[in-house]
Amino acid sequence: MADPKGFMTTPRREWPRRPIEERVRDWREVYVPGGLPPIIAKQADRCMNCGVPFCHQACPLGNLIPDWNDLVSREDWRAASDRLHATNNFPEFTGRLCPAPCEAGCVLAINQPAVTIKNVECAIADRAWEEGFVPPQPPEWLSGRSVAVIGSGPTGLAAAQQLTRAGHTVVVYERDDRLGGLMRYGIPEFKMEKHHLERRLEQMRAEGTKFRTSVVVGQDVGAAELRTRHDAVVIATGATAWRELPVPGRELSGIHQAMEYLPAANRVCEGDFEDSPLSAAGRHVVIIGGGDTGADCLGTAIRQGAASVTQLDIYPQPGTERDEETEPWPTYPKVYRLSPAHEEAGALRMAPAADADARLFAASTFRFTGDAEGRVREVHLMEVDAQRRPLPGTERALRADLVLLALGFSGPSQEDGLIAQLGLELTPRGTLARDRSFATNVPGVFAAGDAARGQSLIVWAIAEGRAVAAAVDHYLTGAPSRLPSPIGPDDRPLRV
Ligand SMILES: Cc1cc2nc3c(=O)[nH]c(=O)nc-3n(C[C@H](O)[C@H](O)[C@H](O)COP(=O)(O)OP(=O)(O)OC[C@H]3O[C@@H](n4cnc5c(N)ncnc54)[C@H](O)[C@@H]3O)c2cc1C
Ligand code: SF4
Repeated sequence: MADPKGFMTTPRREWPRRPIEERVRDWREVYVPGGLPPIIAKQADRCMNCGVPFCHQACPLGNLIPDWNDLVSREDWRAASDRLHATNNFPEFTGRLCPAPCEAGCVLAINQPAVTIKNVECAIADRAWEEGFVPPQPPEWLSGRSVAVIGSGPTGLAAAQQLTRAGHTVVVYERDDRLGGLMRYGIPEFKMEKHHLERRLEQMRAEGTKFRTSVVVGQDVGAAELRTRHDAVVIATGATAWRELPVPGRELSGIHQAMEYLPAANRVCEGDFEDSPLSAAGRHVVIIGGGDTGADCLGTAIRQGAASVTQLDIYPQPGTERDEETEPWPTYPKVYRLSPAHEEAGALRMAPAADADARLFAASTFRFTGDAEGRVREVHLMEVDAQRRPLPGTERALRADLVLLALGFSGPSQEDGLIAQLGLELTPRGTLARDRSFATNVPGVFAAGDAARGQSLIVWAIAEGRAVAAAVDHYLTGAPSRLPSPIGPDDRPLRV
């Protein structure tokens, strides 16, 4: 740290966001372009370079955070990029999208606002690309072994990059027409512009990773056949089986899953359609589900020109301070957070019937009603207590002509036949079962990411990809792998 008193003299400042009126009229990222470099060295200087850096413990990638904070405060960007990429294949993704458990675990956060670790990460990653610090790293020799990676989300991409760089011939099979998994068709452009993804994919192609899009493994190519074609298979197919809301009226038209709605909007940004076939323009929208997927639907509906948008969360509104009993530092607490989409919804008064940020908390939907043509017209809800028991006398109805279900995902999809064809065992939760070395019950077949862990985060997906790559490398070579393995299959976020 260039200034040992930085944490006492410099207040926390985050990457400024563009004015709301401006940013909801386009799909660009919400942050002020060029707003980070002028402030970031001083922000990195707030790091205390702790003897026991809890930020590092809180990150599943084991990011070397105090090291790169120090290097940024001294403006040594090349060394900062080397340290950052030593533990993270895709810091430009996590620097934009991660909820930053590292900041919840920052020692400064005990009695002050945490170091802006995520912003520092993003600044390094962007600078690294601008300055050409991240050229492709093709392997110096080839092992003669081949690996099929099924799924091109952050897990599959991280696994593929690690294994390619280790000298194995890697083919990534993806059922969609474009690569990236949920980062491509789930996460909206205003959270991460897709050119960041394209740039990484270009680097991976130059390193030798091969990609096959529009191939559904299990249908277009048999899973067992793929097993015989390759020396090992990594299943990184995500947890795409969405949860349903089986209440009366669910069959009405105008009620869609978030992952039907968001991909259509993302395809407009990709240039596939002029307008989304599922647009919220001029419609009264109700989003059911209080998580990040719901917030992505909210920001998307605002940009499409919805007449109103309300988001329902079955949980009570969390407090603004962490509960020291149940979620003490350095765990990641459930506190009230205002995402950019909620900030926009509040400022634009998008939900007259809801709280200031368009959310109704402790709200449970028990019925939909529609018109004579079978189109949804109202969402009926009740308040619930902390145990989710409905409170009598609290029934109300919200006007709705578009309802979006954002209730989470239960595990990997079974519709493609992949799991049955290989005879893979599942856990009682419906995720892919695996042993301590990420191996499934079928020899040579490994499982990683949301498909095995359950619905999680990009930072965990990258950690899974790196760890499964080390396990596959060991399996293929029969020798201890030199690839890093940041997590075990049963590791979980810090808890009490
Ligand atoms: C709307 C939304 C927003 C999110 N926002 C964030 C966020 O801001 N920050 C964050 O950290 N996390 C976020 N997440 C979670 C994060 O995106 C996931 O945890 C992460 O993408 C999981 O990575 P994965 O590679 O395991 O799976 P996925 O990203 O789901 O990728 C799996 C891939 O496998 C492909 N596939 C599946 N079956 C087959 C088959 N049979 N053949 C070929 N290909 C197949 C799929 O098409 C997909 O491309 C979000 C999730 C959603 C749904
Ligand atoms: S815990 Fe916070 S202050 Fe300490 S090293 Fe990590 S980022 Fe710096």
